[in-house]
Amino acid sequence: MMDGSGSNHGMPAVRRCSGTIRTSLAGAAFGCALLLTACTPSDQGNPSGGPTRGSPGTGVPSPVQTPGACVAAAGATVQDIDPEDSPVPPWNKPAGQELMVEFSTSQLSARYAGFVSEAAAIWSESPCLNAVAVQACSTGSNCVLLQEDASRSRNTDGEMEWEDSGDYMESATITLFTRPLDRATDNGALATIVHEMGHALGLDHRLARTDVMNSVTDNTTNPTPDAVNFSNLVAIYGS
Ligand SMILES: [Zn+2]
Repeated sequence: MMDGSGSNHGMPAVRRCSGTIRTSLAGAAFGCALLLTACTPSDQGNPSGGPTRGSPGTGVPSPVQTPGACVAAAGATVQDIDPEDSPVPPWNKPAGQELMVEFSTSQLSARYAGFVSEAAAIWSESPCLNAVAVQACSTGSNCVLLQEDASRSRNTDGEMEWEDSGDYMESATITLFTRPLDRATDNGALATIVHEMGHALGLDHRLARTDVMNSVTDNTTNPTPDAVNFSNLVAIYGS
C-alpha cells in the first residue's frame, strides 16, 4: 500500500502550484522508489468565493480525434510539453497489448468516484491504454490509488505522487483536496481529476493554456484532453 503521508518523507521532489500560476520545482532523480508529486491548482487562486459557474463556452466535452492505433511514427516524440515540468515516467506497457491501469476509488465519495469513472473513459479513448475505475486494484495490476484530503491544500486541488523503478512507474497515488474541489463546479472537479489521471498515465504538463494538461486548470477548463495528448500517449507507448 502506498503511504498516504508519503510526500513528506524522503524529501521528494514536489510539483506544487501556488495561486494562479503553478510553479514547478524540478526534482532530482535518485534512482529507485522515487516519490514525486504533481498537482493542479484550485480555482484560479481564488478558493473562497471566486468566479463560480456558468462560464460560457466550456463544460461540454467535445469529441477529440484520437489515433487509430498505438503505433508511433519513427522518431515520434511528445509535443508541446511544458519545460518547467518534471517528467513522470511511463508504465511498462506489454508489447502488443494495451496498457491496463486500474484506479482504485474505494476511498472516494460518490461524487469523485463518478468523476474517476468518467475520466477513465475519456483516457481510454487512447488506443494505447485502458484506464479502469475499480473498487480495489487486482493483484499485480498497475494500480493508482485515489484518496481524499480535507486539510488545507496549499492552493492545490489535486496532487499525484508515484514510485518508479528508474525507468517505469510502479504505483501512484492521487490525492484530491476536497476543500477546493467541493466548491468547484462539476466541470472543474472533473478537469482536475482528468489532469491528475493524465499524469498517472505518464503525461506531463502542456504549454497549451486551454488544455486540461496545462499546469493551470479551473472551472472553465474543458475536461476533454486535446488531440495532442493522445498523440503524446502514442509517442510514449506506441510500438
Ligand atoms: Zn499537473
